[in-house]
Amino acid sequence: MAEIEREAMEYDVVIVGAGPAGLSAAIRLKQLDADLNVVVLEKGSEVGAHILSGAVLDPCGLDALIPDWKEKGAPLNVPVHEDNFYMLGEAGKIRIPNFPMPPLMNNHGNYIVSMGNVCRWMAEQAEELGVEIFPGMACSELVYGENGEVKGVVAGVFGLEPDGSYGPGTEPGMELHGKYVFLSEGVRGSLSKEVIAKYDLSAGKEPQKYGVGMKEIWEIDPAKHKEGSVTHTMGWPLGSNAGGGSFIYHLENNQVYVGFVVHLNYKNPHLYPYMEFQRFKHHPMVAELLKGGKRVAYGARAITEGGYQSMPKLVAPGVALLGCSAGMVNVPRIKGNHNAMLSGKAAAEAAYDAIKAGRSGDELTAYEVDVRDGAIGSDLKKVRNVKPLWSKYGLTASLVLGGMDMWTNTLGFSLLGTLGHGKNDAESTEEASKHQPIDYPKPDGTLSFDRLTNVSFAMTNHEESQPCHLKLADPEIPVKVNLPKFDEPAQRYCPAGVYEMVENDGEPQFVINFQNCVHCKTCDIKDPSQNITWTTPQGGDGPNYPNM
Ligand SMILES: Cc1cc2nc3c(=O)[nH]c(=O)nc-3n(C[C@H](O)[C@H](O)[C@H](O)COP(=O)(O)OP(=O)(O)OC[C@H]3O[C@@H](n4cnc5c(N)ncnc54)[C@H](O)[C@@H]3O)c2cc1C
Repeated sequence: MAEIEREAMEYDVVIVGAGPAGLSAAIRLKQLDADLNVVVLEKGSEVGAHILSGAVLDPCGLDALIPDWKEKGAPLNVPVHEDNFYMLGEAGKIRIPNFPMPPLMNNHGNYIVSMGNVCRWMAEQAEELGVEIFPGMACSELVYGENGEVKGVVAGVFGLEPDGSYGPGTEPGMELHGKYVFLSEGVRGSLSKEVIAKYDLSAGKEPQKYGVGMKEIWEIDPAKHKEGSVTHTMGWPLGSNAGGGSFIYHLENNQVYVGFVVHLNYKNPHLYPYMEFQRFKHHPMVAELLKGGKRVAYGARAITEGGYQSMPKLVAPGVALLGCSAGMVNVPRIKGNHNAMLSGKAAAEAAYDAIKAGRSGDELTAYEVDVRDGAIGSDLKKVRNVKPLWSKYGLTASLVLGGMDMWTNTLGFSLLGTLGHGKNDAESTEEASKHQPIDYPKPDGTLSFDRLTNVSFAMTNHEESQPCHLKLADPEIPVKVNLPKFDEPAQRYCPAGVYEMVENDGEPQFVINFQNCVHCKTCDIKDPSQNITWTTPQGGDGPNYPNM
C-alpha cells in the first residue's frame, strides 16, 4: 500500500484522552506558561461521553490543581455525610462499623459527583486557558521519531473500508507532533499498551490486575433518597466465586448510582459478571431502595486494581503514562480520580521544566520520581497488599489481614512487605470442566434487565461500515480453543453483549457485534487465549453517557 500522506501539526505537548488525568495536565501546563501549545484529543463525541466512575471524589487532586474550584463553579455539589459498609448474605446483611476501618477508608470530606460533568467543567477551564480540545478524535497510532522516541500520534482517521483499507471516502487523519506526548487513555489504553510493550515498561513489575465495573443511574422515590449517602457491600451474590462488591451513592435530584465491580481474576469461566450485578439488585436492601424507581442510564468500564506494585515505568523517550493508563487506583478506596489529577499535574510540571530547558523527546524522569515518591506513591503504597490478600485468602480473611496491614501502613510499616499478584487475569481463568455452570435467574424487567436492553441505555453507537475494532489474532481460536476449553467466556464477561456463539449450518460460529461495544476493554484483559485486541474505532463512536 502506498505511504499515507498526512498533514502534521506541531505542539509542545500532545495529550491523548480528556479524562481527569489528561485535562489536569493540560490545565497545569497552561497555568505554568500561557504560551505553551497544548492539544487534547478525545475519542468520545464530547468530553465526558466515555467517562465512567462511581464516583466519590477525593478532592485533593482538584485542590492542588485549581484551589478555588468552588468559586469557579466546579460541579462538586454533594458532600458525603453518611458512610455505610455491609457484608451481604442472600437475604440479610451485617453492618461493619466504621471505627475499625483505617482512616484512609473514611469518605468524610469527599463528594459524590458525576465525573463526566466534572470533566466537562475541567474542559471549560482548560479552554479558557487556551488549550485546544478536539472531541470526536480517536488517536489510532503512535508516530515515532528517528531515534525511536514517541513524537506524536495519528488522530482523526474516518471512513475506512470494512476490510481496514483506504477507500475513496477515507479521511486519513493528521499527525500531531509534540515535544512530549502524554497518554491519559485510562484503563488498558490501546496506545499505552503499545508503549508499555515497546519499551518493556512492565519489566520487573507485578502484572496489572483489573475488575469490570458496571453501573446504572436510577431515579428513585424521593422519600427513600438520602443525598450524600454512600454504601458499599461485599459478599452476596459473588460469595466465593469471585472478588468484588457494590456501591450505592445518592447524588442530587433523587438520583442514585448503583454499581457493581467483579474482579477479573475469577477462575470459573461460567461466571457472568453482568448477571451477578443484576442479581445483586434483588437483595432485599437494594430492591427496597429501587422499588418504584427507574433506571435511566447504564454503562461499564474496566478498573485497574494492581496498584503500587503493578504500576509500569511511567516514562519512555518522548512519552509519559498518566492516571489509569498506568493504573493509579487505590483499590480498597475504589478511587483513582484524585491520583489521575495529581499525575496530570506532576507530568505537566516535569514537561514544563524540560521544555524551558530546551529539551524534547527524552524521558521525563522527574515525573516518575514525583509519582513514586510523592502523594500518589504514598496513597498507593499503604494499600498495596489488600488486593493480593483478597486474591489469595478470599473475602473474610483478607478483610481482617488487609485491614490490619492498612493500619500498620498508616503508622509507617508493614509486616507483610510487598505481596505479589501472581497470574494475570487471563491466566487465572480455569477450564470449564473444572467448574459448575451457574444458574442465573431471568431478569424481571423491573429491577433487573437483560443485557441488550440495558446497553441501549448506554446510547452506544458505531458506524457499521467501518472495520471491526475488536481484532482477533487468530479467528479460529474462539471455536477451536475457547469454546471446548472455557465454554467461550466472552459470551459472558462482556457487559455489553458484543460476543455471541451462534449455530451456522449446525456448526458453532463466533460473532462479534462490535456496534454494542461500550469501550470497557474487558475482552482485551480477560480472553483466556489473549486473542482479542481492543483497538480504537473512529472518533465519536462508542457510548454517550449523560452524567456517569
Ligand atoms: C465502576 C467504577 C467505579 C469507580 N469509582 C470511582 C470512585 O468512586 N472514585 C474515584 O476516584 N475513582 C473511581 N473509579 C476509578 C476512576 O474512574 C479512574 O481512576 C479514572 O477514571 C482515571 O482517570 P483517567 O483520566 O486516567 O482515565 P479515564 O477517566 O478513563 O479517561 C480517559 C479518557 O481518554 C479517552 N481515550 C482513551 N483512549 C483514547 C484514544 N486512543 N484516543 C482518544 N481518546 C482516548 C477516553 O475516551 C476517556 O475519555 C472507578 C472506576 C470504575 C470503572
